[in-house]
Amino acid sequence: MWGERESLINARVRRLAPTPFVIEAFIDNVARQIGNPVHWIPSLSSGTGMTGLSVRCQTTGAAVIFSPAGVPPEYSAHCVGHESWHLLEGHLCSARDASATYRDGWSGCVARRREREAERFAKRIGLAAAHATSLAVSDDRTRRLASAFGLYAG
Ligand SMILES: [Zn+2]
Repeated sequence: MWGERESLINARVRRLAPTPFVIEAFIDNVARQIGNPVHWIPSLSSGTGMTGLSVRCQTTGAAVIFSPAGVPPEYSAHCVGHESWHLLEGHLCSARDASATYRDGWSGCVARRREREAERFAKRIGLAAAHATSLAVSDDRTRRLASAFGLYAG
């Protein structure tokens, strides 16, 4: 069971994480996968204590992902990745799982499993974004070094 879910997580990362990683392109891929538009609103303020929220309209299927404002791109990717997992799994509202994780019994158990899977997926999406950022930085460094030696103009 764990191995199967792990394979599903890895397969989805391979299918949905664009190379180079651009968060908007990732969201487009998620939208294509679920067959409905996904709107991204990176505007949660730090005072809310929330790292993300996804809600799906039951009639149109359209989804909205909220993530924190003013955070590094890798962290945004992590939060959006987590919420995307809920959408890919057909969860209508991620807030329900987040609050149920503290509950005992079967619903708490299911919610905790969903949260753990969402986090495993999110971690890999965050890593893909971090990798893209470090590539961009090293590209920039290479460019500056090259231009310092008169090898690259621009
Ligand atoms: Zn969650």
